[in-house]
Amino acid sequence: MTSFKVPFSRPSISEEEIQEVVHTLRSGWITTGPKSRLFESNFASYLSSSETLYCLAVNSATSGLHLSLEALGIGPGDEVITTTYTFTATAEVIRYLGAKPIFVDIDPDTFNINPSLVIPAITSRTKAILPVHFAGLSANMDEIFDIARSNNLFVVEDAAHALPTTYKGSLIGTLASDFTVFSFYANKTMTTGEGGMVVTSNKGLAERVRTMRLHGINKDAFNRFQSTVPAWAYDVIAPGFKYNITDIAASIGIHQLKRVDLLRQERQSIFLSYNEAFSSLPLILPPFPDNEDLHSCHLYVVRLNGEFYNRDSFISYLFDKGIGCSVHYTPLHLLSYWRDTYKLSQLSFPCAQQVFDTCVSLPIYPGMSSDQIQHVISSVKSFF
Ligand SMILES: *Cc1c(COP(=O)(O)O)cnc(C)c1O
Repeated sequence: MTSFKVPFSRPSISEEEIQEVVHTLRSGWITTGPKSRLFESNFASYLSSSETLYCLAVNSATSGLHLSLEALGIGPGDEVITTTYTFTATAEVIRYLGAKPIFVDIDPDTFNINPSLVIPAITSRTKAILPVHFAGLSANMDEIFDIARSNNLFVVEDAAHALPTTYKGSLIGTLASDFTVFSFYANKTMTTGEGGMVVTSNKGLAERVRTMRLHGINKDAFNRFQSTVPAWAYDVIAPGFKYNITDIAASIGIHQLKRVDLLRQERQSIFLSYNEAFSSLPLILPPFPDNEDLHSCHLYVVRLNGEFYNRDSFISYLFDKGIGCSVHYTPLHLLSYWRDTYKLSQLSFPCAQQVFDTCVSLPIYPGMSSDQIQHVISSVKSFF
């Protein structure tokens, strides 16, 4: 294994997370239970003071997105419009239900789905729009909600990068969409190792997700052991899935959530240091909100001038300096399964193509030392 001087990403785990996990391990209850419930209620309070925001913890954002689309009744023959510029999970959940993902191109300035391309993609089979807040910069939600309202479509936000991100002053998770789904995968803005959170303000939809995340059983295991009716008594009211979070993972989440704003500030300070240091280099710097809105600063994605500089040699140059880089993303229309199944042409997504050909994600994570930040800056400068 290569040992990087500056790895691409590294989770920030404090002694509190470790102690909470140890406490859970010693407690006698390690799967979904009191810690999961506390994590959900803390998460709801973090997002909003409203009593009617339902937060349901699951074992990944992928399962959360699947549960959301299932609760909305998406099924065979339906179409869901999403961006090609995302991780495969965004589209795979549409396939789980036998529905068809319709990919559209991005706005090359924000890397987010281009709302004006959503309109021509709508057909009589379209049921939902699934935007992604790329890198933690909010998509253009006003336009997406307008299109959804006038075409009677659901909106499910893939907010895997967007905790905390705001849109016109409101946190992602509190907007008018039917569902918002966050990820707590190891390299996301907060982590539980593996995990996710489904957020909705619709009680009926929340109930459906609650049932479906655990085998379609009408009560969860911890409820059963708390209630006065016999613990063994339960009913199965739907086929369901096995998507519950464990109390071990929730223990990590409880303490990550307490630091989620601090972690964002740390990333933002690296983001702004990079912007300043790179301002006179031949690079297109990542977009940043021009109002007071929060960018979660999950990724720092620069673009090279492809005519003069080769992206892959830039990455190998940094690799030789001990710096881990990545590419977000290989657009879905270029990956075999999506390309071949839906006969997608490279020419249909010129903006995603152009961004993909020239983009590089640099390390940005809390706990990067100033030496590490300086090493990235001086190495990028010396490449040019
Ligand atoms: C990470 C990620 C997911 C999936 O999250 P998991 O919690 O790993 O299932 C979905 N969409 C995007 C855009 C992601 O980056």
